[in-house]
Amino acid sequence: MTTAPKRIVILGATGSIGTQTLDVVRTHPDHFEVVGLTCNASADLLIDQINEFNVPAACLSDMSRATAEWPAICERLPYPEGLEQLAARDDVDIVVVATIGGDVGFRPTEAALRAGNTVALASKELLVMGGRLFRDLADSTGAQILPIDSEHSALWQCLVGEDPGSVRRLILTASGGPFRETDAAAIRDATAEEALKHPNWVMGPKITTDSASLMNKGFEVIEAHWLFDLPYDRIEVIIHPESVVHSMVEFHDGSLKAQLGTPDMRHPIQYALAYPERLDAAHSSLALDELQQLRFETPDLERFPLLRAAMDAGRAGGTAPATLCGADDAAVEIFLRGDLRFGEMVDAVLDAMAATPMRPLDSLDTALDAHREGVEHVRRSLTAAS
Ligand code: MG
Repeated sequence: MTTAPKRIVILGATGSIGTQTLDVVRTHPDHFEVVGLTCNASADLLIDQINEFNVPAACLSDMSRATAEWPAICERLPYPEGLEQLAARDDVDIVVVATIGGDVGFRPTEAALRAGNTVALASKELLVMGGRLFRDLADSTGAQILPIDSEHSALWQCLVGEDPGSVRRLILTASGGPFRETDAAAIRDATAEEALKHPNWVMGPKITTDSASLMNKGFEVIEAHWLFDLPYDRIEVIIHPESVVHSMVEFHDGSLKAQLGTPDMRHPIQYALAYPERLDAAHSSLALDELQQLRFETPDLERFPLLRAAMDAGRAGGTAPATLCGADDAAVEIFLRGDLRFGEMVDAVLDAMAATPMRPLDSLDTALDAHREGVEHVRRSLTAAS
């Protein structure tokens, strides 16, 4: 290989996407070099990662539970300013944003885009919240926003080489989650343990819960709107329980392109990191002769009202998606503590949306304020109810 390795910063290094990103780096050490890592509180895992990948700079919020020493090779940056410092470095090729929820990664993503750095975005809530503002910022500095989301990676792969004007619609597939065949009453009564049994994908608890409510798919509709610049009436969702077709693009001539693969997040991560190259994969390829069937079903918006709420928020625009992200962040956090039934979590989000007026999205501060309003409304209403 003649080109220098791509220099990568990972925000949220110890979570599901962060560790799988390091898996990709581990498989292709000649192609990638890790120059910065951040995490919230998993100090020992972060220290292991720093030592394994010889990382020169890192930061974390909470060192108190660490049993290992901070490595001498690594500069420890202050938290949270270190996230922005790493994201904006001028010697970085790709900033992987894999923080949880809608607020932690927001300013670092802004800093990366302002510096003209390529952002590989796993934290879809950030684009949902910042929408047009992040898009305009990226366009003004020439920064790219690349998706690390299996559906959007699939759409991207289907669109490469195509004229954007030839696209009729984007079709996002959804597994349907653990409650795909569950009746409405049983969904409402479900516990966190039941919501975390995703049939196909191994992911962190926040996104797995969002997949059970189909909120994740609603966020993905908004994410697709901003990534691919298509109106909402040309972005559709279809339930596909096998999670083999990762998404599809239909063109004006009626032709449909799909991207297929195993449900393994290392594929979209590697595609984003290596683009436009395609590197060998360490993970398994799809065994077509083992596929019995590929099913497609219309989503049920009555049993999964958060999908409808997200699509409504996307169409409403302004601060509505940011408020939705905040409400969902807070409701899922409380739900995952085991304090709520699934239906109570859903209701808390819907109530927050009904109670919070939407404003124009005139600045990134406004998006963060709207997120906070959603968080606070849910915390107030659930505290009052308990
Ligand atoms: Mg996805």
